[in-house]
Amino acid sequence: MNLSVQIFISLVLSVVVGLVLGDGAAAPVKTWIAPIGTMFINLIKMMIVPVVFCSLVVGMTSMGDMKKLGRIGVKTLCIYMVTTAIAIVIGFAVAGVIEPGVGMALPTDAAAPKVKEAPSIMQVFVNMIPANPIASMAKADILPVIIFALFVGAGIVSVGGKRAETLISFFDASAEVCYKIIGMIMKTAPVGVFCLLLPVVVQNGPKVLLPLLSVIICMAVGSVIHAVCVYSSLTAVSAHMSPLTFFRGMSEAMAIAFTTCSSAGTLPVNMQNVQTKLGVKRDIASFVLPLGATINMDGTALYMGICSLFIANVFGIPLTVDQMMMIVLTGTLASIGTAGVPGAGLIMLAMVLQSVGLPMEGLALVAGIDRVLDMFRTCLNITGDAAVAVAVNATEKE
Ligand code: ASP
Repeated sequence: MNLSVQIFISLVLSVVVGLVLGDGAAAPVKTWIAPIGTMFINLIKMMIVPVVFCSLVVGMTSMGDMKKLGRIGVKTLCIYMVTTAIAIVIGFAVAGVIEPGVGMALPTDAAAPKVKEAPSIMQVFVNMIPANPIASMAKADILPVIIFALFVGAGIVSVGGKRAETLISFFDASAEVCYKIIGMIMKTAPVGVFCLLLPVVVQNGPKVLLPLLSVIICMAVGSVIHAVCVYSSLTAVSAHMSPLTFFRGMSEAMAIAFTTCSSAGTLPVNMQNVQTKLGVKRDIASFVLPLGATINMDGTALYMGICSLFIANVFGIPLTVDQMMMIVLTGTLASIGTAGVPGAGLIMLAMVLQSVGLPMEGLALVAGIDRVLDMFRTCLNITGDAAVAVAVNATEKE
């Protein structure tokens, strides 16, 4: 049986077993099952820095010139921004039709969480330059690692000759070793996925989810619409790839994203899937995907659109067109600033609410089901990165 099917079965099994066990089993599941899931995520995380660094150094050396890198960079960033903005608009449209939160009783005990101060734009650029690359690697800070790898690659190219060849084949072989290790880790994915999802299902039973089911439905419907319309057309138009090939190729990475709720954590699997199943070249995949895992968050953007409309509905505040445009703008920026880790989107949602004066108490409402919303948004986040990698790869074919 192929791995994707096995992972799918374990997803379904964990939901069924979780529902049967119910929240009475929360304590033993947390003690005995959840740690196995954590071991599995840690195994994948173990590969983030090695695979990104080695692949990107090799990628940079094979890109040859800075012109090509610049072209790929501009193309990638433009598609990332446009797809993200579309995601928020789809979020508005879906929430406009389903109208989550309309007629819902106002929460009386909701406490307003603290709003995180957004870093200034200059600070974002400063943080991208690694003062100490080893420290950035130790913290798995992907953007500084990307910058360092680009410099190492450029340095190797300018050294040239035999010595450069030796280094290139060293990094090339190292990248290959990383992909082999990721393959070995993925063999345990059916067990890992089961152990990750079971605690979530046990904790978030129907009691927690039903009151806010309309928000979850919006998120699910919006994710499917965005994936099917935007990603399918992007990959079909640019690479003549059928949606079936694309989504089948992505199924392992999507399942891992769904269960781990971390784009950064899914990165090694995504890099492997995109190259082996969708035929994206290593130099493109190793640049586009790590960048996407840190700045391209279509699922998070979709969530910003849905949740702001939901909160406006609950508090009976009608949103004006100006406010909606403001949400598209701040939502796009906030999603760029969202880290690819579980729960990061909820913190950034505060920024969006604040920009249009929606009540912060709304966050407390969403927080209860955020883990489930995070599954959908992370899945969409990494699928978007892969779709853009396929598109950029197709337009860069010699
Ligand atoms: N968990 C998401 C991710 O890793 C980010 C978010 O919370 O929206 O992609």
